[in-house]
Parts: sequence; structure tokens; C-alpha cells
Amino acid sequence: MWRQQKFDIIVVGGGPAGSTAARYASMNGVKVLVLEKDRDIGMPVRCGEAVSEEGLKNFMDPDPRWIKSTISKIRLVSPSDYVVDFDMKARGFILDRRIFDYDLAQMAAMEGATIVTKAYVNGLLFDGDCVAGVKGKYLSEPFELRAKIVIGADGVESRVGRWAGLQTQVKMKDMLSCVQKTVTGIEVDERRFDFYLSKKWAPGGYIWVFPKGKNRANIGLGVSGKYCREKSAYRYLDEFLQHCYPNHSVLTTVAGGVPCDKTLKTIVTNGLILVGDSAHMVNPMTGGGIIPAMKAGLLAGETAAKAIKNKDYGEKYLSRYSREWHKIGGKNHERYYRLKNTITELSDEELDNIAKAVLKIPEDERTITKIFLKAVMKKPKLIYDVTKVFAGI
Ligand SMILES: Cc1cc2nc3c(=O)[nH]c(=O)nc-3n(C[C@H](O)[C@H](O)[C@H](O)COP(=O)(O)OP(=O)(O)OC[C@H]3O[C@@H](n4cnc5c(N)ncnc54)[C@H](O)[C@@H]3O)c2cc1C
Repeated sequence: MWRQQKFDIIVVGGGPAGSTAARYASMNGVKVLVLEKDRDIGMPVRCGEAVSEEGLKNFMDPDPRWIKSTISKIRLVSPSDYVVDFDMKARGFILDRRIFDYDLAQMAAMEGATIVTKAYVNGLLFDGDCVAGVKGKYLSEPFELRAKIVIGADGVESRVGRWAGLQTQVKMKDMLSCVQKTVTGIEVDERRFDFYLSKKWAPGGYIWVFPKGKNRANIGLGVSGKYCREKSAYRYLDEFLQHCYPNHSVLTTVAGGVPCDKTLKTIVTNGLILVGDSAHMVNPMTGGGIIPAMKAGLLAGETAAKAIKNKDYGEKYLSRYSREWHKIGGKNHERYYRLKNTITELSDEELDNIAKAVLKIPEDERTITKIFLKAVMKKPKLIYDVTKVFAGI
């Protein structure tokens, strides 16, 4: 029974960050336990389920069972319905996260990690100022378990970081309030991501239409917390659906927050590492968090395993993880954040003007870099950011 065993690492949360951290720590020869509060790994799915093929391939060859649609085109729709189409240079996928998250957890288990569902963590154990384990409830029974390192992978509503004394607050304007419906009975191009940018539909955010097989799509929106007092994200989405897809039927409705800000300043402390949404690692411009969560999970798992081998669980040793994270994503993360702040402040008239300017570029010459360069034309300081994040110059 897991409650009687000894573990080197306890991972709180069995999402992409937690499962990936558990997988890579286990691969490096340490004993890992994953505690997930929900009954099922990967459920409920609170996600548009979009990822890039390139991102996934950092970890594994995509399994066809995970993929509901393969995307090669993007459509941007401006407030006055100027439609900008262009080809993606690389492919994207709409996943089935019920299957995908399950498989990520299974990969961790195959490397030797123990995974327990219905295990709710409600506090941390400490040895002096060092995190030394977790306490929680399993099937209503309280438990306490010690470990050398705790990895907090408990998502956007994370409390693990806060319990350890880390600053985890998000500014209201940076917290996107998201609602998504999986709808059917509609016409969609199965190979295309559609995005609607407009203060009218989704102030401080955007609307996405991600095809999920034939006649079905994840349609959702994120509205900046700044605007949610006037109208709820649900109302914004219902108005959009009535306008653009009046004959839709709803299969699922989900809601959740997405922290579209910079990664937390401090993501480790003595005996503790934060990964994924709990550390605010979502791409602040797109809201995409699956691949960043997995990248961070890999780094966290490897660093924690090395720390165990070196018998050093202190903040100084674990800071290698923060440095690695900032090396692979940190600078771009900040650039995306600056771009998001600019794009979300554009008025509907400015968005229309950008769309009109882009429409003058022949379709086969349109690229994401050219589109963003038009968008930041009035802010020359951001031109460097655009070239860095999209063209990799
Ligand atoms: C509406 C919406 C649409 C999105 N669309 C996309 C998209 O298209 N593409 C994309 O890349 N990203 C998208 N995201 C973001 C993406 O879902 C997250 O960034 C990603 O899931 C982060 O992974 P994670 O492992 O850090 O957190 P999560 O996937 O949230 O996993 C955290 C896990 O921890 C568990 N947990 C929490 N507290 C405890 C506790 N106390 N004890 C035990 N377990 C606990 C939770 O039950 C959960 O299973 C979207 C988010 C939302 C809300």
C-alpha cells in the first residue's frame, strides 16, 4: 500500500506537468508518487486541446489515438469580419486529452512511478524551513507522507506554492477567465484553427474555434479578468455562438482560468519545485500551457532526481531547474507577455486596420511574423520581440 511505502519525490497533481515530472524523475532511478485529487487522470478536460507537432515531438512520437484533427491553416477574423487566411509552416493537432493525459500518466507508471487518484493534498509537512512531505485525504481518510522533494504540479488553482510561502498571485488583468463548449452540428474546416479578435467578442483575450473531427469543435474564449465584472465569460461565449453558429448543439461545457503572465519569480524553495500552470508557465500570448508544462516537467523531474542522488534538496541546488527553465523559455516568455499586452490593448478599429493591411499581402506570402510586424508597427520596440519569438532570429 502506497501509504506505507517510502518515496523520494511526491508529485501533487497528475496533469501534463505532474506526469512528465514523474516520468523523467523515475527514469533517473528515484522513487516517485503522484497524488491526483480527481477520480480520473485527465478528467474533467478543461482545455482547447491544441498543441504543435513540434512541441509534442520533444517528448515522443504523437500517437494517432490522441489526435482528433491535424491542422495546417490559420484563420484570423477581425472585429468587422475581415478574414485573414494563411498556411502554418508547421502542423498542429487537436488532441483528445482524456486519452493523452492518461497515456502521459501511464508512461510515468511504466518508468516505475506510483500514481494514486482520489488523493487530495491539503497541506505540506516541514522540517524547519524545508518542505518535507504532504498531508491530505484519501477516500476521506487523512494521511501524512514524507519525501525528500515535493513537486507542486497542481495547476492554475495551485495552493502548494502558497503553502510553502511563495508569491503566487496573478494580476486580475493577466488572469484569463475561459469558457469552452464542445459543440456539434456545425460546419468547420477540419484542418484550420480559427481565431476571432475583438473587444466585442472577447475583451483582453480571443475566441478560438478548434475543430475536433467532423462537424464538431472546441469553441471557447478567454476574457481578461479586468472585463469580467461587466459581463461573464459565459455570456460572451453564448452571444458569439448564437451569432456565428446558431444551430450548434452543446456536448460539454468547461470553465477555468489561464494565468497569462510571466513565470513566477521564485519557482523553487527548500524541498519544493513548482511546475506548469502552478508556476505560471503558460505562453502568455496564446494561453497554450500543455507543452510548457511538459518541458518544465522534464526539467523538474531530472533536477529533482539529481538532487536526490546528491543528497541536496536545498533551494540553491534546486535553482538549477529555474535557471534551465529561464534558458529554454524565460526570455521568449517575457517577449510573449509584452506582445500580449500590446495586442490586447488594440481597439477594434486598429485590429480591422491591421487585417486590411495584411490582406494586401498575397495569401501564399503571409506568415505569422509578417502579421505581427503589422500589428506592432506603432511600437517599434516590439519589432525585435516579434522577430525573436516567431522568426527565431
Ligand atoms: C478553457 C481552457 C482552454 C485551454 N486550451 C489550451 C490549448 O488549446 N492548448 C494548450 O496548450 N493549453 C490550453 N489550456 C491550458 C492547459 O490546459 C494548461 O496549461 C495545462 O493543462 C497545464 O498542465 P498542468 O499539469 O500544469 O496543470 P493541470 O492540467 O491543470 O493539472 C493539474 C492537476 O492537479 C490536480 N490537483 C490540483 N490540486 C490538487 C491537490 N490539492 N491535490 C491533488 N491533486 C491536485 C488537478 O486535479 C489536475 O489534475 C487551456 C486552459 C483552459 C482553462
